[in-house]
Amino acid sequence: MSARQPEATASDRKRMPVAGPWITEREIAYATEAAATNWYDRAGDFIGRFEQAFAAETGRRFAVSLPSCTSGLHLALAALGIGPGDEVVVPDVTWIASSAPVTYVGATPVFADIDPVTWCLDVASVEACLTPRTKAVIAVDLYGSMPDMAALQRVTGAAGVALIEDAAEAVGSAFLGTSAGGHGLVSTFSFHGSKTLTTGEGGMLVADDEELFARIKVLRDHGRRPGDVSFRNEEIAFKYKMSPVQAALGLAQLERLDELVGRKRDIYGWYHERLADLPGCTLNAEPAGTRNSYWMTTVVLDPALGLAKEQLGQRLADHGIDTRPFFSPLSSLKAYADAEGAAQARERNTVSYRVSPWGVNLPSALSLTEQDVDVVCTTLRQVVGELRPVR
Ligand SMILES: *Cc1c(COP(=O)(O)O)cnc(C)c1O
Repeated sequence: MSARQPEATASDRKRMPVAGPWITEREIAYATEAAATNWYDRAGDFIGRFEQAFAAETGRRFAVSLPSCTSGLHLALAALGIGPGDEVVVPDVTWIASSAPVTYVGATPVFADIDPVTWCLDVASVEACLTPRTKAVIAVDLYGSMPDMAALQRVTGAAGVALIEDAAEAVGSAFLGTSAGGHGLVSTFSFHGSKTLTTGEGGMLVADDEELFARIKVLRDHGRRPGDVSFRNEEIAFKYKMSPVQAALGLAQLERLDELVGRKRDIYGWYHERLADLPGCTLNAEPAGTRNSYWMTTVVLDPALGLAKEQLGQRLADHGIDTRPFFSPLSSLKAYADAEGAAQARERNTVSYRVSPWGVNLPSALSLTEQDVDVVCTTLRQVVGELRPVR
């Protein structure tokens, strides 16, 4: 090995990660303790503590820890008895995990348009998507933003369909004083490594309805009633559980939630200070009455600048800046190319198709400093400043 360090090149410079956790001695201590002690009759210690604390945090009666948010949505749909012939309304712009479970149970996803300000479900579009076959609406708190939950509750209540909240990206957000995860008949969270609160992989389902929650508990453990020791299963179901070491990480993170969300909001604030006056750039919104936990600070460029999200992402990557493209409409994906209703969604969902091509998630990892954000903003201003509107 050479003793001399090579000259620093662009690729050696500190990369600016788009996502990543904030792990302290607390997480390490709890996870270590779980690995050493959470076996035999103590296997449920950290799991029970994490679930109870999470229910309290989100203001719900019940919480169950899971291997993922995807499994939580699957359980919610299965427990509600949704299946072949049924329709479930989902936003056209979200991660595919919001809609894939609809297919797992044999139902049909119907893609509704998004609101141009919140980037979450547009209520009028949801209403237009309702049919006699609709059984549920899955609302997604995109990038930490909140849809108009009061209106969605009104519309789903009037139609007699279930409102399910995919709060995977929104722990710490709130709408009219009620936490993200407090709005659905069932609400689900993700603790994937990219999320604000993480256990590496993991998820949580919260609810208030005792009967529905009991059904979810049976479905997530191969059809066994909680406490069953007979090993005589009454039905074929699923196996969706979190491990004690993950729960220990999760409890430590939850005890630090204010700190984690505070840092996300700081990061957004640093971006906002530097970019709010940049013509043609729109950042995440926080309408009156909502609190945005800003999972990812996101910029959407004016289409007139002519810089598509892939090109913007490439230009920033050339400077060591990681981004993610704004989610593409589900109805535009190969996965749904021939799906029932996808062609109509492509015609109908004009806001989805107008916003999505021009957005990127900026570096939002919890390790970022204000100086890092400064570097990203200087680079972004250069890239955008080089552009002439092509109106
Ligand atoms: C991350 C995410 C999920 C899926 O979470 P997993 O824990 O990976 O299953 C679901 N919905 C949205 C909106 C997400 O961002």
